[in-house]
Formats: sequence, structure tokens, C-alpha cells
Amino acid sequence: MNEVIIATRNVGKAKEFVRMFEPMGITVKTLLDYPELPDVEETGETFAENALLKAEFAARSTGRPAIADDSGLIIDALNGRPGVYSARYAGTEKDDQANNDKVLEEMKNIPEESRSARFMCILAVAFPDGRDPLWAEGSCEGTIGFEEAGEHGFGYDPLFFPEGYNVTMAQLDPEEKNKISHRAKALHSLRAQLPELAGDLK
Ligand code: IMP
Repeated sequence: MNEVIIATRNVGKAKEFVRMFEPMGITVKTLLDYPELPDVEETGETFAENALLKAEFAARSTGRPAIADDSGLIIDALNGRPGVYSARYAGTEKDDQANNDKVLEEMKNIPEESRSARFMCILAVAFPDGRDPLWAEGSCEGTIGFEEAGEHGFGYDPLFFPEGYNVTMAQLDPEEKNKISHRAKALHSLRAQLPELAGDLK
């Protein structure tokens, strides 16, 4: 049984993994197939720790190799915040509007040339036998705007101008975002390790 678990309940995230693994004859399942499993608390202090917590828990609980991601926005002028707290920066879990308002307020006096930032995504692959995990990461450099713009995407996309573009991530169509995003780059890096991974999944 060639099967890998993606430790998420987000169907959108899972789709990209299905596209990658199915041509190899590997079945992708998500935590939606395991409704009895609780959500893992993201108590780590780094993206890597949180990704590994989620991947290891899923691998141990299902007995199959499991992949988890963790991602967020790092703003240089805010000493790396919101970082691992990206989803709950303003206090409430996943309140994108409140998070964006907080970032804009904290950065209102930061000049254009000091508004550099990057999105980061780390993927961890954990195995039920406890052998060393595999890792992949991707980042997307850019700057933070002075107001929100654009309707696409989610999270901090309306604030983030990717390097080389004079529109925000939320003004790009989703296909374009998918070519340059931190998550796309991390997946690309994982794909480069697939020959190694494929053997482990059999
Ligand atoms: P998670 O890794 O899916 O838990 O994402 C953590 C948080 O980082 C999200 O809730 C967003 O606030 C932010 N984030 C991660 N990826 C993106 C992105 O592609 N665009 C905008 N915000 C993102």
C-alpha cells in the first residue's frame, strides 16, 4: 500500500500534493480521512519545529509517512515578526483583517526602503519508524505596502509586493502566485528529493 498522509485539513493544500504523488502511484490522504485525530497545537518556536510536530504526530497516529508544512511572513523592520505567530498575530486565530491592520499600524512610520519581508514555507516528512525526517523549504522575497490592495489569495497577500512586481500577491491571479510562492518553491524542492522519498513510501 503506497500511501502518504498530508497533515492538513485544507483541501487546497492537499491538491498540490495529489498532483505530485499520483503520477508515481502513491495515494494521498489528508487528516480529513482521519476525523478522530485532534489538531496538533503549534507550540514550536520555529517553522521547522511546528512542521515536525504536525508531521510526526500524523505519522505516529496513522502508521504511514506524513508530510506537514508550516509557513508565515517575516518582516525585517519588525525583527522577524509575525513569524511563527503569523496566523494569530493580532490575537485571534486566522483573523486576516486584524493581522493586516496590526502590521500596517506597526509599520506606519517605516520608510519604503526599510520595508523588506519574505514569506517562508518549511515542509517536514516524518516516518512512523522514527527515522530522520526529510526537509524542504522555500521563500519568496518582497516588501510590505502602506495599504491593502487586491482580492485574491489569503492572509498577508494584500500587503505583500513580491520582488520584481509592482502589484501585491493578492492582485496576482492564483496561477501566477503559484509559480513564485514560498509554498510552490518548497514543493519544488521536495519534488527534487522524490526519488529518495519514493523508495521510502513503498
Ligand atoms: P499555515 O502555515 O498554513 O498555518 O499559515 C500560517 C499563516 O501564515 C497564515 O495564516 C497566513 O497568515 C500566513 N501565510 C502563510 N502563507 C501565506 C501566503 O501564501 N499568503 C499570505 N499569508 C500567508
